[in-house]
Amino acid sequence: MSSSPGPSRRKFLARSAAVAAVPAVAALAGGALAEPASADTLPDFAPIPPSALGPAVNAQGYYVGRVEKNLYWVTDATYQAAFLTTRDGVVLFDAPPSIGRNLQRAINEIASANGVPNKVTHIVYSHHHADHLGASALFGRGVTRIGQAETKRLLAQENDPTRPVPDITFDTSYTLRVGGERIELAWRGTNHTSDNSYIHFPDHDTLMLVDICLPGWVPYDSFNLNEDVQASIAAPATAMAYPWTHFVGGHMGRLGTRNDLAVYQRYVNDIIAGVKQALVAVDPTPFFAKYGDNSWAAVQQYQAAQVSYAASPVIKKYTGVLAAADVYTASTTFVILESIRLDLGVDSQIHA
Ligand SMILES: [Zn+2]
Repeated sequence: MSSSPGPSRRKFLARSAAVAAVPAVAALAGGALAEPASADTLPDFAPIPPSALGPAVNAQGYYVGRVEKNLYWVTDATYQAAFLTTRDGVVLFDAPPSIGRNLQRAINEIASANGVPNKVTHIVYSHHHADHLGASALFGRGVTRIGQAETKRLLAQENDPTRPVPDITFDTSYTLRVGGERIELAWRGTNHTSDNSYIHFPDHDTLMLVDICLPGWVPYDSFNLNEDVQASIAAPATAMAYPWTHFVGGHMGRLGTRNDLAVYQRYVNDIIAGVKQALVAVDPTPFFAKYGDNSWAAVQQYQAAQVSYAASPVIKKYTGVLAAADVYTASTTFVILESIRLDLGVDSQIHA
């Protein structure tokens, strides 16, 4: 994706830092991962479908493009932010640390091309997570930050200097007006997090909803680590009820369409259908016969068999359709299996 070795190496190192804790944990488990990784022995995965990839990033490691009119998006191929240029300054939507100082570079590039102010005056927060807000403090104290009330509460509790708390908060909805532009913010209940907000640009035919649908890709590990699984499954329908053509999902290298959300919904529904079949079809008897008093061994192996039963046909169906179907479908299937058991009570049996 990168046009020079410099930024891709920097990005690689930044990502390595983010996952630095993983080898230590893996070492505890023993086995192959206790050895230093070698590229020769790491597993292969299916090729990424070209439809999952976006435009190439520049030598500095970012791509900036127009969404519609004076609304723009910027990506490093993994994370996304958006910004609106106005006669009174720039409104930035999220500030992922992986894009970092490239946010202002991207803004400068667009502002100078169009002869509009390049000063960021407002930052809208989609939700409190550091991977989407960690570059907020780069824009200083003079910026007005806007977020949902729970975003403020969580950020105050987390007390991370890279993510200043919002100056303006809202409970369920807020209309932000800057330089003659209008943005509609809404909180429609917990989904990915308890504060994740819908950012609608009614005059730009665009919806930004972060960490739900990652256009072209399956969800990140364990169903995007969504806090409320059932509400996250329902969120795309809420998103679809808004009028929009362009979708900013906060992740990966391209914008989304309504079809991306529809494909995502079908993918999740296929996992749910597979899990419901697995709950009926996979016989627990051999697992409990084999492991005796070791209940966790029996449960772990039994559920692994259920996940495999449910996920295998989904991986097959979506390989070549959604990137990394073979990487993360199993962990997402496990999370959905647990939610169907624990939140919906399917397969709960009352002792006679
Ligand atoms: Zn998040």
